[in-house]
Amino acid sequence: MTTVDIKPPPNFIRNIISEDLKANKNDGRVVTRFPPEPNGYLHIGHAKSICLNFGLAAENNGICNLRFDDTNPTKEEVEYVESIKEDVRWLGFDWGDRLFYASDYFEQLYDYAVQLIKLGKAYVCSLSADEIREYRGTLTEPGKDSPYRTRSVEENLDLFERMRAGEFEDGAHVLRAKIDMASANLNMRDPTIYRIRHEFHHRTGDKWCIYPMYDYTHCLSDAIEGITHSICTLEFEDHRPLYDWVLDTLKTPCHPQQIEFARLNLTYTIMSKRKLLELVEGGHVSGWDDPRMPTLVGMRRRGYTPESIRNLCERVGVAKRDSVVDIALLEYCVREDLNRRAPRVMAVLRPLRVVIDNYPEGQTEELEFPNHPEDPDMGSRKVPFSRVLYIERDDFREDPPKKFFRLAPGREVRLRYAYYITCVGMEKDEKTGEVVELHCTYDPQTRGGWAPDGRKVKATLHWVSAADSLEAEVRLYDHLFAKLNPGEEKDGADFKTHLNPNSLETLKSCRVEPSLADAAPGGRYQFERLGYFCVDSVDSTKEALVFNRTVSLRDTWAKIEKAQKQKA
Ligand code: ATP
Ligand code: MG
Repeated sequence: MTTVDIKPPPNFIRNIISEDLKANKNDGRVVTRFPPEPNGYLHIGHAKSICLNFGLAAENNGICNLRFDDTNPTKEEVEYVESIKEDVRWLGFDWGDRLFYASDYFEQLYDYAVQLIKLGKAYVCSLSADEIREYRGTLTEPGKDSPYRTRSVEENLDLFERMRAGEFEDGAHVLRAKIDMASANLNMRDPTIYRIRHEFHHRTGDKWCIYPMYDYTHCLSDAIEGITHSICTLEFEDHRPLYDWVLDTLKTPCHPQQIEFARLNLTYTIMSKRKLLELVEGGHVSGWDDPRMPTLVGMRRRGYTPESIRNLCERVGVAKRDSVVDIALLEYCVREDLNRRAPRVMAVLRPLRVVIDNYPEGQTEELEFPNHPEDPDMGSRKVPFSRVLYIERDDFREDPPKKFFRLAPGREVRLRYAYYITCVGMEKDEKTGEVVELHCTYDPQTRGGWAPDGRKVKATLHWVSAADSLEAEVRLYDHLFAKLNPGEEKDGADFKTHLNPNSLETLKSCRVEPSLADAAPGGRYQFERLGYFCVDSVDSTKEALVFNRTVSLRDTWAKIEKAQKQKA
């Protein structure tokens, strides 16, 4: 065996920080930030960045700011700001009183731009957007200087002030950093740092008609907030020289260190806010909080716990190279957490009526059920048993194939915590031939589900009492995309063509045990033998219960791991 198992912790970012602390860099402070752009709901990829930034701060007695990178007036909305705050809190993190907006710094950013002009390091360029692109050159060809590059400081100051005053149309001028049009790094070829946009901004209203660009804003916002470690995803690696150039040129008192890490990608999942918005707007899902969405609101509604998401992020670790994580690992984390905390209940998704012929008519008895087989502290509850029950249609076969050990004509099985029953007959729909009702007998000696004579049965079925159970709608989910890497655009196809047509199955006439009458919205349960389910927080009411399947019981990940171990 040549593989070396390096377990996080430590990871390379933790190492950088601990080295910095040893060297007393930044006077031993650790200040990070999570900087979302409020142009959509957070997804599980963001969760990784949140866990990393807030986690690193917490581990090192530091602080982490929440900062909205709201430099783009047209795409940003208050709805998104509120949802992002809620999601970060839900994940279990707290920014204290350090909620910031890049737009709070617009005045300071403007002053810095004036300073750059005065230093001869920025100029107003009046080329059109197309011309700027043309002049920029390519990866193999150097760019050409803009004819406006040599404008005097005075002219630049005058034009920039008039840009701010609203004298010009959108696109008439931009402010550019004066760096190097021959740089091998395209980001350094006189990048635009301000553009004219006569747009209303969700926080500054109509105060501004020029808006700073992301690269210029981000480094300065970091510096203004005294960030020590500015952690971002790999696609910003090529932007780091610009990040450093702006701060070095302006000699800001604080110069954070930008550190890049690999984004989280999941199989069968798209993680781009733009594409997720397309799914919402196109009606392909019921909203940002559709339980199939990889958004944190979607996952919350689906029944995922914040602990399981944090756990996933830790297990995946921090890397310098992009990779795709098997979504089965996320499901494994969810299952592992819910197994511990979800009380067990019984529900029948596709009911088949069972009449116990020798059980007294009109009688109901209450059986005592533990709420969790391994955790007595979770207590117990009473579950009614009566003459007419429902079992799962799948648990009966008229002609059982080999290895089908559940109910069949003449066969005895156990009803969970109740009695042994034997199938003695059935009734069929005359037209379709479908079995619509079973007749069984029960053995009164087996109360609790155990035979005093020690005789064994090969199957235990879940069940509910017909008259006492409640009707419920149950929504079963599968992956939203049928393709392993739906975001890959190699095949040129629209990513929406990869949507899984069977990602949602709605079952309307399910039956659940009566204890669920008081289930709170969002409440999570294990339906015995079926999986983990939660009360839908949007559509479920006391009169019409709706459950979402969070995750099935099938432990795919354990299987995968086993297979991987065998391969190794
Ligand atoms: P998207 O591409 O999904 O629209 P984004 O990067 O544009 O995401 P931002 O709001 O700018 O979204 O992201 C906020 C922070 O979250 C950034 O620091 C970004 O690097 C990080 N982030 C976004 N997606 C991921 C991901 N898949 N894995 C890890 N971090 C991510
Ligand atoms: Mg972004």
